Amino acid sequence: MTDEQQPQWHALSSEEAILALNADPAGLTQEQVSERLASVGPNKLPEAPQASSLTRFLKQFANLLVIVLIIAGVLTAFLQHWIDTAVIFAVVIVNAIIGVMQEGKAEKAMDSIRQMLALKAAVIRNGKRRTVAGEELVPGDVVLLEAGDKVPADIRLLSSHSLAIQESLLTGESLPVEKQVTAVAENAALGDRQCMAFSGTTVTAGQAKGLVVATGGNTEIGRIGGMLSDVQKLTTPLVEQMDVLARWITGFILTVAVILLLVGTLLLDQPFTDLFLAVVGLSVAAIPEGLPAVLTITLAVGVQAMAKRNAIVRVLPAIETLGSVSVICSDKTGTFTRNEMMVVSVQTAANDYDVDGEGYEPIGDVLFNGKPVHTAEQPLLQEVARACALCNDAEIHHRNDSWSFEGDPMEAALVSFAGKATFDEGEDFKALWRRTDVLPFDSTTQYMATLNHDHNGHGAILVKGAPEVVLALCKAQQAADGSEQTLDISLWTAKAEAMARQGQRVLAVAQRPVQAEHTVLSADDLTGSLSLLGLVGLIDPPRQEAIKAVQTCLNANIQVKMITGDHGVTAQAIGKQLGLTHTDKVLTGSELDRLSDEELKEAVQHTDVFARTTPEHKLRLVMALQSLGLTVSMTGDGVNDAPSLKRADAGVAMGLKGSEAAKEAAEVVLADDNFASIAAAVEQGRTVYANIKKVVSWTLPTNAGEALTIIVALLAGLPYPITPVQILWVNMITAVTLGMALAFEPTDAATMKKPPRPRGQALIQPALVWQILLVGTLFFLAVFGIYRYAIAAGHDVEYARTLAMNMLVGLEIFYLFFVRTMNLRSITLQGIKGTKVVWAAVGVVVLAQLAISYIAPLQAVFGTHSPTLTDNLVIVLTGIAMLILLELEKIVRLSLTGKHH
Ligand code: ADP
Ligand code: MG
Repeated sequence: MTDEQQPQWHALSSEEAILALNADPAGLTQEQVSERLASVGPNKLPEAPQASSLTRFLKQFANLLVIVLIIAGVLTAFLQHWIDTAVIFAVVIVNAIIGVMQEGKAEKAMDSIRQMLALKAAVIRNGKRRTVAGEELVPGDVVLLEAGDKVPADIRLLSSHSLAIQESLLTGESLPVEKQVTAVAENAALGDRQCMAFSGTTVTAGQAKGLVVATGGNTEIGRIGGMLSDVQKLTTPLVEQMDVLARWITGFILTVAVILLLVGTLLLDQPFTDLFLAVVGLSVAAIPEGLPAVLTITLAVGVQAMAKRNAIVRVLPAIETLGSVSVICSDKTGTFTRNEMMVVSVQTAANDYDVDGEGYEPIGDVLFNGKPVHTAEQPLLQEVARACALCNDAEIHHRNDSWSFEGDPMEAALVSFAGKATFDEGEDFKALWRRTDVLPFDSTTQYMATLNHDHNGHGAILVKGAPEVVLALCKAQQAADGSEQTLDISLWTAKAEAMARQGQRVLAVAQRPVQAEHTVLSADDLTGSLSLLGLVGLIDPPRQEAIKAVQTCLNANIQVKMITGDHGVTAQAIGKQLGLTHTDKVLTGSELDRLSDEELKEAVQHTDVFARTTPEHKLRLVMALQSLGLTVSMTGDGVNDAPSLKRADAGVAMGLKGSEAAKEAAEVVLADDNFASIAAAVEQGRTVYANIKKVVSWTLPTNAGEALTIIVALLAGLPYPITPVQILWVNMITAVTLGMALAFEPTDAATMKKPPRPRGQALIQPALVWQILLVGTLFFLAVFGIYRYAIAAGHDVEYARTLAMNMLVGLEIFYLFFVRTMNLRSITLQGIKGTKVVWAAVGVVVLAQLAISYIAPLQAVFGTHSPTLTDNLVIVLTGIAMLILLELEKIVRLSLTGKHH
């Protein structure tokens, strides 16, 4: 559609807009949506063009080592060493293909993550509230917006309550713009179109309902060429560090190679071609060219493993941070607890009731003294139920034989309770009492208020919220006959506390009648004017898996803190059930406010439960913990949580109940809002780090061993124990099998038994350098040794080389098993048993070696002779001997350094 055809939506009244789109305030029907989706297309921005496979393939050749190989290939072709030429080019091409495949795998991992983070939108269709994928929106859809949402399309607002939107994406203006519903002038600038909400901008406050007027590429953001967020680079600081290291090694080896070449030909008069091939072989052996790609795969595997455990990594470097987290701060409601709420008790000035039932089904008994009451005869209970139903944004519905809900679980529980309390009459409060205005729930104010009117000119303000807050707004309490009594604050406080002690989440409900002409609600209308209806107690049991996860974290020396907006006593009861360390004392938000930064720093060390907190408190807590040198993970869901999520080392947003604003500020998004998933993410983070370390610990020493063999032979003027072509082969076959296998290593038993790794610790530790030297030397001795042994036994050079090559590969296999259990005290049966991936890799390598050792045409290519069974046995025994030696060395080293894993 061009501009001429598009109506100027901001200049139309909402009625005109509805008419123009053939829409309905009660939403489109499913048929209308399907039709429009077919004609307009999905609501998504064009994707950034992807590199073609050919480009990706060619990109693999932009690499110094590959260029050297190609030159070598051309040179050998000139010299008509056809076999060498063929092998070299085969290596180059196979490498490029593997590179493309690796990249593809890594990108696919990231793509699937992006899918999981796709935007959702709350819409009204067929008169019912629903959550749909943002892509499924069509012009004419009625959308609900609330604080923290990302606007899913261009929207003409139909109604709004203190809506404010941050539009810097489009206008550059960083302050939020206040929105309303009246049309503006046709020539109003984008930033002045207050009756519009634009796709991609963020709601910072308020609530609204609006009509989708443009989707996908037709939105303002689409028209200025906005694209889907760019594909992330698959790297982390550690991997980059290794990348740089690999480049240094490359530069260094190539320099050494050139020097060897010059010295050899000019000073020692060695034949250039042989020397050149040897030098190429050396470069290929010594340069860990496959390392960056394997590390990328390790990351991709980690990302996928985390996603499988419901932790979606938005920002890749977070994988590393997660691995070093030393304190996890988490919300209570829905994270430690199941967020399956149910009202279990109601207390009014007249009676204390218990409530029965199952799930969100609005059917169940209300009991007084253990006996079901006839709810129609309990006027005060009816009033409580009405307040619960009206001061509420959730909906429950019966679908496929079970009850589910839309909106906040606690509010859904209240709707369900209202159903139980009024079932006899089948009253539908929402239809009788239309909402005129609302003060949405906000974790800072801790209450929600609505203004409702019926058709007979009655008006009422209804409030629900934290008992202390609501009590403070009340001037009286309501009696059974509807009259007002003096408010007995201490009685209510004691009641609330008794409910909280049982782990119940307590809400107070209050109301006040108003005149029909009172149509705008402000916070001032509540102050000191309400009449208290009663208290509602809800249960929300802890998640079983969270209790286990807390234990796992504590075992791993990770502190766990619970930060909640809920009441201190409720929080404490839940904290105890979870098994947190310090639950004897609870720090509340207001107590926290009175502490200086220094005092807070002291207090956080002995407190694990923080109650009645606001998002600002979270920020202070993060900073206090960080000042203790801890690596902090913090969870959040609301718009106001964004600062603390950003500030935390690993910000974790709730995927289900979290706002878009929180998700965008976080490094990790939980698909199931479950604390156990945070613990799993930390475990995976540690696993990824361990695997990166394993890959490096396998690659560098084996490369060193290969290189040492050639260099020594070169310098000593000896025949090479392994020919350049053989080295090329060994490198290729082992790098794609053995080297890669370590990227898929599962979490090992030691992972969650160790204290967290200090952040920013370099990967290359003295221990690793020692390992490179030790293993490199052992490899060199064994390879050279078996070569000499074969010659001494009267075999020809080809035979000796076959043994040397097989020895090299054999040791690499045995060393793989050592590396797998490197972090454990000693090699275990588990370590020897290996994984499917490991055995597949070993199988492929062994078969390949057998093939080139015994099959005649391959023998011709690689210059091998069939080894005897005894000599093969010698290789296996040497491998076992090396394993034992390395294990002994580990035992000695561990006892010397006194390090206990
Ligand atoms: P948390 O999620 O950590 O339990 P919240 O900030 O969501 O804490 O809630 C803090 C308090 O605000 C709750 O204990 C409850 O008393 C009150 N509250 C929570 N949600 C609502 C709501 N939708 N309407 C009114 N009050 C609420
Ligand atoms: Mg909450």
